Amino acid sequence: MKKSVLKKYANLIVKVGANVQKGQDVIVVADVDQEQLVTYVVEECYKAKANAVEVRWQSDKVAKVIYKKESIKSLSYVPTWKIEREKEVNKKLPCLIYIESSDPDALKGVNQAKLAQVSKNLFPVFKPLRDERENKYQWVVVGAPSKAWAKKVFPKLSSKKAVEALWDAILKTSRCGDDPIKAWDEHNKDLANRSSYLNSLNLDYLHYESSNGTNFKVWLIPDANFLAGGERIIHSGVYFNPNIPTEECFTSPISGKAEGIVYSSKPLSYQGELIENFSVKFKDGKAVEVHAEKGEHLLKEMIAMDEGACKLGEVALVSFDSPINNTGLLFYNTLYDENAACHLALGKGFENTIKDYGKYTKEELKAKGINDSSIHVDFMIGSKDLNITGYTRDGKKVAIFKNGNWAF
Ligand code: ZN
Repeated sequence: MKKSVLKKYANLIVKVGANVQKGQDVIVVADVDQEQLVTYVVEECYKAKANAVEVRWQSDKVAKVIYKKESIKSLSYVPTWKIEREKEVNKKLPCLIYIESSDPDALKGVNQAKLAQVSKNLFPVFKPLRDERENKYQWVVVGAPSKAWAKKVFPKLSSKKAVEALWDAILKTSRCGDDPIKAWDEHNKDLANRSSYLNSLNLDYLHYESSNGTNFKVWLIPDANFLAGGERIIHSGVYFNPNIPTEECFTSPISGKAEGIVYSSKPLSYQGELIENFSVKFKDGKAVEVHAEKGEHLLKEMIAMDEGACKLGEVALVSFDSPINNTGLLFYNTLYDENAACHLALGKGFENTIKDYGKYTKEELKAKGINDSSIHVDFMIGSKDLNITGYTRDGKKVAIFKNGNWAF
């Protein structure tokens, strides 16, 4: 990719994404493939007057060897210094910039049950530390192609051509064209208008219907909002965009109040494998029955991961006519694929969807209906003839989606 274009992308990541502030520390997490982009991102951080930038390098290949060779006990061991490091992060609240390049097949061949056990073991150690900083710092997830990822998306192209093609798709869907800052300004305004209209409706529940068999109702939390695009940190007032790209208006529904069946409209890439053509049946808000043409065992393992894994944490509305869907690509990466169509997520909900969430304790937010789990897995249900009807708390019926796209 041309240097000038990479620099523009780095600027978008730092200014619009993380919105790095003067004097702030920054942590960049990136794959070892991305030295050039990371160099520009670090430069942009200092241009934004960051105090210190730390880069944490990752490698799929190395991680795979470690996962294969180490025992569960050793993989689950957390040295004290790692905990101290997280505590320090919670004190200083640096911005986090995640640059995703993962090979979707990175963990193929690694024992999934072993991985699941390790994440189960690590969860209670890191959860309280993550909870402590939630909603208090700016973060952004963006993508940059590795060869392996690009070859997965464009298997017929040479590695070089595939990387170029994936860069094009990433930059286009990230609105990184002539003037990315202006494009994001306009995009954020459009998303904000849509979510404030949705919030003005005072919706009780949504009813989804599609010719693929989807017939599903989900109830919404009375004092939860639909959010979209950028977010604002309560205590600092800093506005940032956690996902580049983003197309969704999303909220967290009532954990434990959903009925009916949904059919997937795109494959789900989960732990290096694909779950394809699947359905999830909900009763009393719980996924009680799942079927998949491919990867059914993964889906079953996923919803049994913990108590909250079979309940919903997110309901997201995305137009079928979205820039990502219009590329016609499956990216094998949630950041892109979840912004291609309407989706639901099983697992952890978003506390910041509750109005004035800062006033409540974790327990109070959970009592309002925000789901909790160690997982948050998005899956696509948007189709070209999906209709969504909203039922308001004062008994009105409002068209939300008509034939896959916004009805307003
Ligand atoms: Zn989402």
